[in-house]
Amino acid sequence: MPNHSEVKIGLKMSLISKLKTFKGGIHPKEYKSLTNKMEFETIPIPQKLIIPLAQNLGNPSISLVKKNDLVKTGDIIAEQNGFVSSIIHSPVNGKVTKISNHPSVTGIPINSINIEKIDSNEINLMSILDPERISSEQIIERVKYAGIVGQGGAAFPTYVKLSPPKGKKIEHVILNGCECEPYLSRDFRLMIEKPEEIILGMQLIIKAVSATKGTVGIEDNKPEAIEMIRNAAKNYQNISVEVVKTKYPQGAEKMLIKAVTNKEVPPNKLPFDVGIVIQNIATAISVHDAIIKGMPQISASLTVSGLGIKNPKNLIVPIGTPISDILDYCGGIVQNTVRIIAGGPMMGASIYDLSTPVMKATSGILVLTEEEITHKEETNCLRCGKCVEACALNLIPTRLARLSLLDKLELAETQGITICMECGSCAYTCPANIPLAQWIRYGKQKVLSLQKERKSA
Ligand code: SF4
Ligand code: SF4
Repeated sequence: MPNHSEVKIGLKMSLISKLKTFKGGIHPKEYKSLTNKMEFETIPIPQKLIIPLAQNLGNPSISLVKKNDLVKTGDIIAEQNGFVSSIIHSPVNGKVTKISNHPSVTGIPINSINIEKIDSNEINLMSILDPERISSEQIIERVKYAGIVGQGGAAFPTYVKLSPPKGKKIEHVILNGCECEPYLSRDFRLMIEKPEEIILGMQLIIKAVSATKGTVGIEDNKPEAIEMIRNAAKNYQNISVEVVKTKYPQGAEKMLIKAVTNKEVPPNKLPFDVGIVIQNIATAISVHDAIIKGMPQISASLTVSGLGIKNPKNLIVPIGTPISDILDYCGGIVQNTVRIIAGGPMMGASIYDLSTPVMKATSGILVLTEEEITHKEETNCLRCGKCVEACALNLIPTRLARLSLLDKLELAETQGITICMECGSCAYTCPANIPLAQWIRYGKQKVLSLQKERKSA
């Protein structure tokens, strides 16, 4: 006969096995405890800000200011350039000192507006709108005017996501509370500190797209966040919480949609195509703030972590703050730091210039030491198939990487290289230490350029 603890373990095991998830994926070491107890702090506005004009997926914005112009916090300093683009507001009272190329978190220099701070508390807010009486069109217009971009990483202009093409009916809004990248605890802290704002922001998103229901997907390693969000949503009949299995990349759009709804978004299709809009936790707060407070998106919330930073923290930072100012605010870096990354360790980009500024979608700054980076020698492929098992999109990473290496781009295209979401799971799991994701990213960029050339020919 089983004893009590065996029964308890059995129950726990059956609950675990029922948690929804997707096929494939990996379980990297989390490192969340470095920051998940740290309340958000707002850093002082730095003396000099550098505002990149390309902060969204799509077309860069067009500057509306020139050298020596005076700007107020909240003033529009760059306008939208086409449908998939966004407005940029000044995060500071100051004087434009120059507009020139500057290193960016994307690794590519971006034309950027440099502003020198002037001490003043002036702020140019938008009007406050009534969430009960606001229409769908007004929500979308306000989100556009506030310059909000998705803060889950891709920086897609949010108003575009809220404007499905004609004939696409949206039924379901999913809020992504997975935060599956190691180290990052920004979304977790937002769920703990601002659950009401998140749920009201979500309700506004549901209204904007005329959906009937909303689900917040949260990984089971965040029980406090699950409780806070459930409490905040208890008076909303149409919003529920779905606890999903902790696994990387559970927070990828297609993976979360599969886990929550069991629907598959086909290759080269979007969540729109299966009646779903998916947004990030921080984006829901930006929508809330734009409508309830009249606040444009002029700051980023992010985690500063890693064994290389003296005081890991969660911070609210003005857009355009140089990374060096953030590192100083956190007590500086330790001597054996070997890498600084913007974003998470799996999908983020290495930073080589500490004057690189924070952008609207920057979710983390990681300062990593030797201890956290594995430098193992690359060997020949062992044909073990682990990379294939790990790929959540059913790709064959070993083959795609080889085709990229050999520049066999057309073959790589037919094998689905453009579908790859660059999650890095294949490389993480490879016992031969082959930089699979790097090779696939390289091949994917080349195939995408080829496709562009074909279209314009
Ligand atoms: S990086 Fe691409 S190929 Fe590798 S596991 Fe992720 S989706 Fe699959
Ligand atoms: S995981 Fe690495 S060693 Fe194994 S099949 Fe894939 S590329 Fe080869």
